[in-house]
Amino acid sequence: MLFDTSNISIDTISNDYLIKKKISLSVLRLDKIHPIVSGNKLFKLHYFLEEVKTLSLEGIITFGGAYSNHLVATAYACKIAGFKSVGFVRGEKPAKLSPTLITCMEYGMQLYYLTRADYEIKDDIEFLEKRLPLFKNFMIVPEGGYHPKGAAGAALINNLIDENCTHICTALGTATTIAGLLAGAKNNQQIIGIPVLKGMTDISERIKYLTTSTHHFQLLDEYHFGGYAKKTNELIGFMNQLYQQHGLQTDFVYTGKMMFGVFDAIEKGYFPTGSNITCLHTGGLQGNVSLSLGTLIF
Ligand SMILES: *Cc1c(COP(=O)(O)O)cnc(C)c1O
Repeated sequence: MLFDTSNISIDTISNDYLIKKKISLSVLRLDKIHPIVSGNKLFKLHYFLEEVKTLSLEGIITFGGAYSNHLVATAYACKIAGFKSVGFVRGEKPAKLSPTLITCMEYGMQLYYLTRADYEIKDDIEFLEKRLPLFKNFMIVPEGGYHPKGAAGAALINNLIDENCTHICTALGTATTIAGLLAGAKNNQQIIGIPVLKGMTDISERIKYLTTSTHHFQLLDEYHFGGYAKKTNELIGFMNQLYQQHGLQTDFVYTGKMMFGVFDAIEKGYFPTGSNITCLHTGGLQGNVSLSLGTLIF
């Protein structure tokens, strides 16, 4: 692995309530790989980076919005691998760049802005050929690493999870991370996704595209809080409480919703007595910068 994984820990979350319910809950701290780069994104990039190297390409081209964790992760990974990175950003160039985009540039990413109409068709071969002649020697990574190679990289996460774990939970965006977990799962493990977008109806098809694994998955589908990057006071209150009681910082786009969902499901009796749950802390804390000051206590 290109990046340092030695800081990753498995932290136990314990309180009287969980003890009474006879549920073990732990958090795989992929966020500890880097303070602002999402851990799961680096795993998803693993095989792309290897290919850039074996094919002697110059670097990676990828896509994302102004607050995209995937763009920062790509910029960072390419920087430490010694590759170039190019990011196509959704929407016209803003008068004031988001902190995410500034970080991308600090990591050496070259940014180009696509109108929303162009962004819609960014995956068309003709569009790419027209727009990207300058980048012939680059590997194209789809937005969010949404590709079987991304899932194969995410499957490496399973090696870090205790084999006695019965349930593995992750926030679900493109479904690439959960596809990797399914590919790497042990027979007795339940893999649970918490979608952070509202009304995702194509998760099964996505997973079929991403992996040949037929391991069963489950969804906790009521924790999107109104949609992608939407938030409520209840969610922010929960995140503050999680921090106060267990010292765990989460982000409001992914991991906050995932942890909220897991705690709520525990309360509703979703997990049988004796369950040994591992939640993936995928990182993403950099996304909190788009929150107004004062709402989070950390
Ligand atoms: C991108 C991201 C996810 C979602 O992963 P997918 O593979 O797109 O489903 C979860 N958590 C964080 C912090 C992310 O940045």
